[in-house]
Amino acid sequence: MSHGLLNAAQRAADLTALRDARAPLDVLVIGGGVTGAGVALDAATRGLRVALVERADLAHGTSRWSSKLVHGGVRYLAQGAVGIALESARERHILLTRTAPHLVRPIRQAIPLTAAISQKAERETRIGLALADGLRRAAGTSARTLHRAHRADTAALLRHAPGVERNGLRGGLVSYDAQLEDDARLVVALARTAHAHGARIVTRCAAVQATGSGARLRDELTGATFDVDARHVINATGVWAGELTDALKLRPSRGTHLVVALDALGGLGGQLSVPVPGEGNRWVFAIAQRSGVAYVGLTDEAAPGPIPDVPEAPPHDITFLLNTLNASLARPLTRDDVLGTYAGLRPLIEGDATKTADLSRSHAVVRASDGLLSVVGGKLTTYRKMAQDAVDAIAPDRPCRTRNLPLLGAAPRDALAAVAAPARLVDRHGTEAPDVLALAGGDPALLEPILPGSDILKCEILHAAAAELALDADDVLDRRTRIGLVPANRQRARPAVQALLDEGRQASAA
Ligand SMILES: Cc1cc2nc3c(=O)[nH]c(=O)nc-3n(C[C@H](O)[C@H](O)[C@H](O)COP(=O)(O)OP(=O)(O)OC[C@H]3O[C@@H](n4cnc5c(N)ncnc54)[C@H](O)[C@@H]3O)c2cc1C
Repeated sequence: MSHGLLNAAQRAADLTALRDARAPLDVLVIGGGVTGAGVALDAATRGLRVALVERADLAHGTSRWSSKLVHGGVRYLAQGAVGIALESARERHILLTRTAPHLVRPIRQAIPLTAAISQKAERETRIGLALADGLRRAAGTSARTLHRAHRADTAALLRHAPGVERNGLRGGLVSYDAQLEDDARLVVALARTAHAHGARIVTRCAAVQATGSGARLRDELTGATFDVDARHVINATGVWAGELTDALKLRPSRGTHLVVALDALGGLGGQLSVPVPGEGNRWVFAIAQRSGVAYVGLTDEAAPGPIPDVPEAPPHDITFLLNTLNASLARPLTRDDVLGTYAGLRPLIEGDATKTADLSRSHAVVRASDGLLSVVGGKLTTYRKMAQDAVDAIAPDRPCRTRNLPLLGAAPRDALAAVAAPARLVDRHGTEAPDVLALAGGDPALLEPILPGSDILKCEILHAAAAELALDADDVLDRRTRIGLVPANRQRARPAVQALLDEGRQASAA
């Protein structure tokens, strides 16, 4: 097993090995989002010879635009999808307790009981929360890991969310789910762990066409194309999956988030959810991040037509989110409070529903007549099960090993608490945090934040290039860190990030 260090030199070596291979690979995975990285890890740990190609960067697609929640699945119960709900709760348990406790942690969620929530709606919501507790128990998650849902009095609700309008407030409903430190970092951890188990990981490498026995690939850095043979090819290109096969019909749906300062909300201790008027089981939420901002989401709108590389948040999505959240805030947010926006496209599988919100969130493994296997749909939360199902379809005689396989940096929570590094570094790097600090080589300047007020240290930029396959400043700003979610910070940090990358390159050339 290697150390899972991914960088430009390793990419070049993996690309050469892929291009010059004499024997077919066991598995070629196309797409470096959470699904593809999960498939590469699953296949590599079953002892298969695997390569993953990604046309842009790891987590370039939908996987970086999520709400960064690891859902327990209660929302699917409302659609009658008990199987998906239970699967989500089980996968949440695995992520929280075994595979990625460094990146996934409990989050407290509160629904303020304002005049907008009738007594009847309150009773129904409490039933939903009781069912969520049932899912938690069924998945084997203890009430010590995720506390039971309960009704909070007004004082407790306001301690959690001091910015909520007090007039007419009659307390709140509190429950617990799980939150990711960052979705793109989960993808990078998966890809690095897959590499540690022997998978080749090549970014900036597109599949221009693919069948069940191989693909034509293009090195996006040189434009050179070459063919690769594989006993199995797995299409994990998310919302773009239909570009490589006719066997799938997708109906993308856009979800928009806003980025606001926690201060603008009057502070927040976890998640705040408020109902969308007249829409039964739909909520708008603000989710506090340890970096000092909150993500406000979420829309669910059909997004037909060509699939953009980076979707944009339209003005009416922004207005909808602000108006819905503002109904419960003492000081309404304005456009000036919006520090950034982001939008992603859900890779939903075509179904009969009129609204995309009613389409199933289940995943599918679909084999085309030429043998190309596609794995699509699902959720970030259920990536591991999606990967297991896809690899089971090609290697049923080799048992899946990912259920108990910690990702690089993972450790039990008490071990993480004992890691000798600042807590925020451990949040992002787990047990590897001391290695990240060591890259500073004793230079105090490299232990400083990349921007005043930021919790990202300069030595993390060096680590992104040395171990996390960041090839340029965009990879660092937009996926290894999330500085780029606030465009003003992105612009301010860019020169320092570029200078650190250039210094790193000179050091490795010397
Ligand atoms: C707004 C929003 C919020 C969400 N929130 C949550 C949440 O909180 N929790 C949760 O569990 N789920 C959430 N989801 C769902 C989850 O984000 C997605 O299901 C998941 O990220 C899809 O991952 P993927 O790897 O299948 O696709 P992607 O992440 O899109 O990965 C596909 C990759 O394939 C690459 N690619 C495309 N074509 C090619 C090609 N020809 N050659 C090589 N590479 C190619 C792309 O560049 C991309 O990186 C959310 C989704 C949205 C849209």
